[in-house]
Amino acid sequence: MKAAFIEKHGNLDQLLVGNLNIPKIKQNEVLVQTKFGALNHIDVFLIRGWPGLKLSMPHVLGSDGSGIVKEVGSTVTTVSEGDRVTINPGLSCGKCKFCLSGSQNFCKSFSIMGENRWGTYCEYFKVPEENVLKLPPKFSYELAAAAPLTFLTAWRLLTTQANLIPGDYVLIHGAGGGVSTAAIQIAKFLGARVITTTSDQNKMEKARALGADHVINYKTEPDYSKKIYSEITEKKGVDVIVDSVGKSTFSSSLRLLKPGGRLVVPGATTGPTTEVDIRQIFWKQLKIFGSTMSNQREFREVMKLVFEEKLKPTIDKIFQLEEIIEAESYLNKGRQFGKVLVEIS
Ligand SMILES: [Zn+2]
Repeated sequence: MKAAFIEKHGNLDQLLVGNLNIPKIKQNEVLVQTKFGALNHIDVFLIRGWPGLKLSMPHVLGSDGSGIVKEVGSTVTTVSEGDRVTINPGLSCGKCKFCLSGSQNFCKSFSIMGENRWGTYCEYFKVPEENVLKLPPKFSYELAAAAPLTFLTAWRLLTTQANLIPGDYVLIHGAGGGVSTAAIQIAKFLGARVITTTSDQNKMEKARALGADHVINYKTEPDYSKKIYSEITEKKGVDVIVDSVGKSTFSSSLRLLKPGGRLVVPGATTGPTTEVDIRQIFWKQLKIFGSTMSNQREFREVMKLVFEEKLKPTIDKIFQLEEIIEAESYLNKGRQFGKVLVEIS
């Protein structure tokens, strides 16, 4: 089968497109003929590798994917050949106390599709039955591939973790990224007032079109914190901040929160270490939540809203599988607004 894979770690040019054998499924697994894959930042981290990561090569990338069920294992009962499906890219053992109590993303063997097993950038991928979700009739394969990872991440962090409620002011840094664009929509759906930051005019307009109430260009308004505090929230501060930027925004995020405010941290793209004024945390009795991926319930909750078109993933651009290096470098440059897809077949 045609696949995009690496044979060793390095830069983007380590990505190859060639032929590999179709994976063989176990009794509890499903083989899916891929229609679309969707890119995520984990792809580039995987290509580079990290200390302790041991992949058996060649390794196929891709965490999100949609397609048609081609074959099912002997114990599979919930899907059958010909079903149109998408997947939950969060994989867990299914047997430990965390999995059995519905906290799959705390499982010791939790991993992401394409991380410790072959991913979706190939003509056929395999996945455990419990990770497969049937699409409603006519629901597009493009949207079905674009939604899962970013929407489940944004859903968990805004609902379970931050407990966002109607009327809350929420600041979402960096409109344009997959999780941020999902978070803007989810926050509006939950009735919050959305403030977002970005660096170009084009993205500002798109963020407004998604429903953001206040869009700030942090390049032309470097003093944007003051504007948010004094003008937008009338010196009250923000209820919830989604900060995946890390180093360059973390301390200003703490300052911008109102007493009792909640900071949710799903990543740290500009760097993992920074200086923090700890007094901000106890004076204002702030709550800080980490968040990563979701459990099965959260995945199904948010996908139901996506299927009902109450939430609609933003697709920026679709590449062909052969253009995978171009697609990954496009994502890496951060020019996109929403998801970047690869069409497989
Ligand atoms: Zn487990």
